[in-house]
Amino acid sequence: MAETKRNPPWTRDELLVALDYYLDNPDDYFSPTGNGVLGLTAKISHVAKALGLTGSDTLRNANGVSMKLLNFRAHDPNHNTKGLIRGNKLEEVVWAEFADNPTALKKVVASILDVTQVATAEDAPFLPEDDLTEAVEGQLLTRMHRYRERNATIVKRKKAAYLKQHGHLCCEACGFDFHATYGERGGGFIECHHTKPVSELAAGETTKLADLVLLCANCHRMVHASRPWWTVEDLKEALSVRR
Ligand SMILES: [Zn+2]
Ligand SMILES: [Zn+2]
Repeated sequence: MAETKRNPPWTRDELLVALDYYLDNPDDYFSPTGNGVLGLTAKISHVAKALGLTGSDTLRNANGVSMKLLNFRAHDPNHNTKGLIRGNKLEEVVWAEFADNPTALKKVVASILDVTQVATAEDAPFLPEDDLTEAVEGQLLTRMHRYRERNATIVKRKKAAYLKQHGHLCCEACGFDFHATYGERGGGFIECHHTKPVSELAAGETTKLADLVLLCANCHRMVHASRPWWTVEDLKEALSVRR
């Protein structure tokens, strides 16, 4: 008997793209042969590919996409959805996060689709990381964020500029200075965090020094430790109430 490959569960990225379509067309029948669902299926397939998802021939086909849109309808208070089946837990989470904010979602989805134009799974060999929680905006924009803040050239420039201005390198949130604490070994040691909202990261855009902030390893981990990621202001606020 031929082995049937199982398709992986829907990712946050794919669900965001599907939800954006749902919110634009809440009263549609979502026919799997209609142009709307077919166009959406093509987009979602690009996202799945960029994420490196593999499965059977039915991975994100029009039937599956149509079903997912109907799953979303089961969450829609504007519809009498008796008998409609809800899908997985993540779909419920994504609905709760974005159904009331279609404008923000549209921006996120535009960025995700933008990234799929250039991204392949190999573009981000540093993922997955144990200590990095995927952003609300999904895996592709998480990768883009990481890629931006680890760009050696811009990081070097940021450190040099900060050093010139302040005379030493330290965490811009808590003030931790690796050199002062660990001596020579800590010289030049600090991480960079990209402050621009991930939904505003466009593929091919260059990072400006002003987009980066210096953070110690602890502070940087805390920013990314859960969803939604903290802003630098959130981080400073958390530090200030505990001092
Ligand atoms: Zn710090
Ligand atoms: Zn970061």
